[in-house]
Amino acid sequence: MSIPNPSAAVVNFGPEKGSVEIREIARPEIGDDDILLEVANVGVCGSDLHQWTADHSWHVNYPVVLGHEFGGHIIQLGKNVRGWKEGDRAVSETAAIVNADSPLTRSGLYNLDPDRKGFGYGVNGAMTKYVRVPSRCLHRVPDNLAFEQACLTEPCCVAYNAVVNNARIQPGDRVIVLGPGTIGILCAVMAKLCGGDVAIVGLEQDKHRLNIAAQYGVTPIVGDATEWAKQRDGLGADLIIDAAGISKTLQIALQLVRPNGHISKVGWGPQPLNFSLDPLVQKNITLQGSFSHNWPIWERVIALMAQGTLDVRPIIGGVWAITDWHEAFEKMHKGEVVKSVLKPV
Ligand SMILES: [Zn+2]
Repeated sequence: MSIPNPSAAVVNFGPEKGSVEIREIARPEIGDDDILLEVANVGVCGSDLHQWTADHSWHVNYPVVLGHEFGGHIIQLGKNVRGWKEGDRAVSETAAIVNADSPLTRSGLYNLDPDRKGFGYGVNGAMTKYVRVPSRCLHRVPDNLAFEQACLTEPCCVAYNAVVNNARIQPGDRVIVLGPGTIGILCAVMAKLCGGDVAIVGLEQDKHRLNIAAQYGVTPIVGDATEWAKQRDGLGADLIIDAAGISKTLQIALQLVRPNGHISKVGWGPQPLNFSLDPLVQKNITLQGSFSHNWPIWERVIALMAQGTLDVRPIIGGVWAITDWHEAFEKMHKGEVVKSVLKPV
């Protein structure tokens, strides 16, 4: 059977490790409330890598096209779509499916709706030429902001939510970010924008990524950050952002944070913990999770990027054709680049 209007897609076809390959897929049909986006660029996320290496902790609807960090031009509109036209430049939020009637959605917190399904695991994502997007997910991209950068709006929104909405930060605060992946570096950048005195912590093998963080004026630390945390008055950092991909860094966060301080946890790690949470009680710490993002965060982040206040160019390690996805994934997986960006063929 031949596929109508086929295009190459990076497809995650099963739960086993390495179950990702290029497949030809049909151009999606859109519904009345959708638009069809011609993808210009799509970022590779840590979660795409996790699905590839099969160490993810969320349910995946196999087979699925990967990719949820994307932008492009609108080329077709459903009949109910208002406010957009063909040729408009847009980026898309990630909550492809939400329950419009859930109390969370009605409160504007559709990112926390239990029925939410995102691009790249719940529905087909954007590592291909065309993607169907509900128009409620769209945000306008100003002409002066290139898609190679605009496609990274999503991880910037994750960082914004973790640092601004789900933490307490005041100018002059000492902030430590654990984990120099994309989210960690962007959290450090956000904390700088908020006026923080910011350090980022990684391992010996993270040197390259730590150096990129340093380009933003963030202090890079390999290994133990205790000395930096206590440098000012001996009590520890005001805010710890835990952006590492393992759970046990929470123990380090509890050591580094000052009494009455705040920990914002944005990194995932499915492993159970094996340490006492007593320091949380003893030090009167606020421990706050942070997940995803919503409409007002997207509008603010796009404004920050368009006016040049937030520059993601230092973290982009290269742009690959989607057919070269393997090299792009591998380089990011090994930490040789912070962020790989793909381009449809
Ligand atoms: Zn992502």
